[in-house]
Amino acid sequence: MPQNENFWNPYRMIPVRERIEKKPPLTDEKFKGKSGVISCSLENLTPLFIGGNRNFGENFLTRDGKCVIPGSSLKGMLRSLAEIVGGGCFVVADRKVKHDSRYKACDNANSLCVACRMFGMMERGRNARVHRGNISIGDALMREENPKAKAYDVLLSSCGTRHEPFYRSPQTGNVDGKSRKLYFHQPNRTDSVPNVPDKLRSRAWKIRALQPGHHFDFEVQFSNLRSEEIRLLLYVLALEEEVSVTLGEEQIRLRGPLRHKLGNAKPLGMGSCHISVEKLVYLAAPRARFASLREPEDTVYEGDALINELSGMRRGFIGDTSPTMQQLRKMMVWDENDSRSFKYPEYHWFKNPENSRKPLKAI
Ligand SMILES: [Zn+2]
Repeated sequence: MPQNENFWNPYRMIPVRERIEKKPPLTDEKFKGKSGVISCSLENLTPLFIGGNRNFGENFLTRDGKCVIPGSSLKGMLRSLAEIVGGGCFVVADRKVKHDSRYKACDNANSLCVACRMFGMMERGRNARVHRGNISIGDALMREENPKAKAYDVLLSSCGTRHEPFYRSPQTGNVDGKSRKLYFHQPNRTDSVPNVPDKLRSRAWKIRALQPGHHFDFEVQFSNLRSEEIRLLLYVLALEEEVSVTLGEEQIRLRGPLRHKLGNAKPLGMGSCHISVEKLVYLAAPRARFASLREPEDTVYEGDALINELSGMRRGFIGDTSPTMQQLRKMMVWDENDSRSFKYPEYHWFKNPENSRKPLKAI
């Protein structure tokens, strides 16, 4: 919320890591890293809508008659989390912000931040080289035969102004590109979005969003990842199962697992999702494949062995109490008893000169 208001603004800027470590990616000529497949499922906890843009229509994306979340949407979500958690460059620079050179988008395919190594990058200019990335994510297909969707009128921006104080980095108090935007979960909003006022009805977008409780399955393939990169990949997929945080001056206590946000209308509470890792397979090293007459065995983790492997691999991030990780937890915690109400300030709030310098409340 802006200071002195009782509602909460749907988003916050959270501080980025101080250090961005750049390295060459492992490429296919040198199989030093690990390769494998992660099988995942996804359940939506609030209404979910994936539909391109408003010219595209009001229906959820489908393929062969089945609802589908494109792998590119999942990849975008996981990449932006990897940029925050792992310390990545700003691929999409905000033109209104003068970025510190340390955070500029990677532009040398031999010296890449962790997100570009994992998810890919493209150099600019002539003779630009491309690193395709070491992770590929398939489309997520829906399990249910008869999806339950509901029509919503959504208004995606309050009034089109950009209130500078809302975009300041919390750790510096400046608009300096040292922070990234995340949306809170809104567990209250399982069935509704805020009403669109009559005078703004012409600007609303009509969408048919999936009701909570639908399930999707997808696979993440990785090749030649360093162990620190696999750790980061498993963290951004599985997140954390139990956190306890205290927000701001009012000391609001929230507790629960961390969950993802995906798709359209995030400021209105849509898109909260629970991703579960169901199975993890490390492929036998190619050297072993060639050297041995017997087929070397892949390593498969499921059930309790998977739980152990996931907690071991995520331990470093789960124990990380840096400002970046503390604020990430405050944004991504899913607490069903969270009773805060969320909305953007209205037009008259922004137009009131008294509010012109007012930032959001610190979390
Ligand atoms: Zn990068």
